[in-house]
Amino acid sequence: MERKECVLYDRECIGCMECELCDLDPKKICDNCGKCLDIKDVASIQITGIEKEEK
Ligand code: SF4
Ligand code: SF4
Repeated sequence: MERKECVLYDRECIGCMECELCDLDPKKICDNCGKCLDIKDVASIQITGIEKEEK
């Protein structure tokens, strides 16, 4: 099985889901509502990687 690096800490991913928590409400899983983003007429995002689904 492929080793996956944690996106927050210098360690292997342990599946703790901390990276999925909302920045504004730590009791909520992020649903991409955008409230934490200062989006005006246009916005840009940086893509740091693409993951392929294993079959
Ligand atoms: S699930 Fe936990 S260990 Fe895995 S990337 Fe997210 S924060 Fe890191
Ligand atoms: S997009 Fe919404 S749910 Fe996700 S971190 Fe931002 S405010 Fe929280």
